[in-house]
Amino acid sequence: MDQNPDHVCHVCSEILDQNPDHICHVCSEILDQTRVSDQILYRHMEKTGDDLSILGYGCMRFPQKNNKIDVERTKKQILFAIENGINYLDTAYIYSGSETVLGKILAGGYRDRVKLATKMPIPTILSRADMEIVFQTQLERLQTNRIDYYLIHNIIHFEEWERLKQIGILEFIRKKKENKQIINIGFSFHGNLQTFKQIIDDYEWDFCQIQYNYLDENFQAGTAGLEYAASKGLGIVVMEPLRGGTLAEGFAPEIQRILDDFEIKRSPAEWGLRFVWNRPEVSVVLSGMNEEAHILENIRIASNARPNTLTAEELKMISSVKDKIREKIKVECTGCSYCMPCPFGVDIPQCFAYYNNAYMYGGITPKIAYLMGTGGYEMPPSKASLCQECGICETKCPQNIPIRKELKSVAKEMEKWHWRGIVRLLRWKMYRKGGGQNLRNMNR
Ligand code: SF4
Ligand code: SF4
Repeated sequence: MDQNPDHVCHVCSEILDQNPDHICHVCSEILDQTRVSDQILYRHMEKTGDDLSILGYGCMRFPQKNNKIDVERTKKQILFAIENGINYLDTAYIYSGSETVLGKILAGGYRDRVKLATKMPIPTILSRADMEIVFQTQLERLQTNRIDYYLIHNIIHFEEWERLKQIGILEFIRKKKENKQIINIGFSFHGNLQTFKQIIDDYEWDFCQIQYNYLDENFQAGTAGLEYAASKGLGIVVMEPLRGGTLAEGFAPEIQRILDDFEIKRSPAEWGLRFVWNRPEVSVVLSGMNEEAHILENIRIASNARPNTLTAEELKMISSVKDKIREKIKVECTGCSYCMPCPFGVDIPQCFAYYNNAYMYGGITPKIAYLMGTGGYEMPPSKASLCQECGICETKCPQNIPIRKELKSVAKEMEKWHWRGIVRLLRWKMYRKGGGQNLRNMNR
């Protein structure tokens, strides 16, 4: 093996092969900022005049270390993405620490190489003065004098937009656009189709951001909303293209078999992303990337996913996968965590993830993992049965999930006494052998 320092990971010292593929296969360190693709695709957003990379960098969940953002790793990931052509970065006031870290990273000469998107948090804004305070804070955090794409964050009901108008949002936007602190104005959306159209028709928006993927063609704005926004000339940014990972992670065997039997071999994530990019109305697809391998893979896919290129057979195959997933999923939770924190400690997205996994994969593993993860063995308990039905979470869920009702089903299915007995036995066995750590990570 070549001992040339270029072929040794500078973080974990693993000896790499002659072609390290830019990422250490042991510790996932990004080894250099070399371009892995010269061909990431761009789409022209007519209304704003920008050529935007079809892959946008979602900055909601940066990698963590000791319960804080791992700034060094985040920096390497983002610079790697920029060097490879990604020019649209999406953050928000409420993404904890994200704006500040992003500001620090971009201040090193990268700010003008990207279009920066961030969002106004509706619940925080109670007056015209609040808009200024929040916006100034965002400029400071991001170390910039302008926001290229500013969004009203997470409109669900038309009344929220009406309230903002009553306290002066229209004048705020006009002034900020006039003095070029806001370049383009848009909104992100999780309401129904009727409200979506109402909001589009109510203002001269430059762009909008919607949830769209092959499970959600008829949910929220959906395909009809996508086409409506495009018909009005708006640029369209898509979030949740893989529905919080549901369309990216391992499928149940009978679903995976549909992919395996298809003549063209692609990962579930690639099919999911290609489905969205197949729509010519879509300008940018956001991916919340915090694993180096995912960044690399997404850049590769974004280098040849052109609109209107999926064949009828490919779309039919995706439709079969969709039907099968629909049969299996119990709760349509995307894991966004907007419903959190629960005042009684329930880890709502985790409860639903384990519950869905139990139906997706079958077997006892998801049930054991649920109890290990939420049962209070090493961390404070966070299981579904702790819910006191206060209902606070439901007012914040963009998917309109009846959380209280669903948590009751989770508790009934996942907290049966015999599962608890098995967990106690397994823990006793594992800890006797010193393997408790493995058991904690049994979620799939
Ligand atoms: S309804 Fe239940 S899960 Fe939701 S916030 Fe209240 S206690 Fe927590
Ligand atoms: S329950 Fe709703 S708000 Fe909570 S994580 Fe799931 S989708 Fe997001």
